[in-house]
Amino acid sequence: MSLVKQKNTRPELVVRSFLHRQGFRFRLHGKSLPGKPDIVLPKYRAVILVHGCFWHGHKAKSCKLSRIPKSHIEFWTNKISSNFTRDQANIGKLKTLGWKVLVIWECEIGNMEKLVSLVEQLRQMDITATHGKPGSRKTMLQ
Ligand SMILES: [Zn+2]
Repeated sequence: MSLVKQKNTRPELVVRSFLHRQGFRFRLHGKSLPGKPDIVLPKYRAVILVHGCFWHGHKAKSCKLSRIPKSHIEFWTNKISSNFTRDQANIGKLKTLGWKVLVIWECEIGNMEKLVSLVEQLRQMDITATHGKPGSRKTMLQ
């Protein structure tokens, strides 16, 4: 897996610093929210879950990080499927509370397009957008 340079940075830190450079401000580990989401953006009423592929059971075929070890298969399968179930329950609860939930997987972090599309999704969710922000002037001049 020499293709992926992991450095020392955890996936969550990569996402956080990317968002920060893009001008987003957020809170970390919203303790009052189901599952304590990694990144909370109150202005967007959105949370971002940065999921480690192995522990959270990433099901994408392209994912090479979520393979179950060959020993103790049953243990790992149970463990990971219960994590997965818990994640789904938390996501359901968050949505019920009116939060938008974005999930980014560890194996997607190195993909700049993925991060850019995450940012685009967030910008569309900006609940304060009507108060004007850079860029809105263009639309006014049309
Ligand atoms: Zn993955």
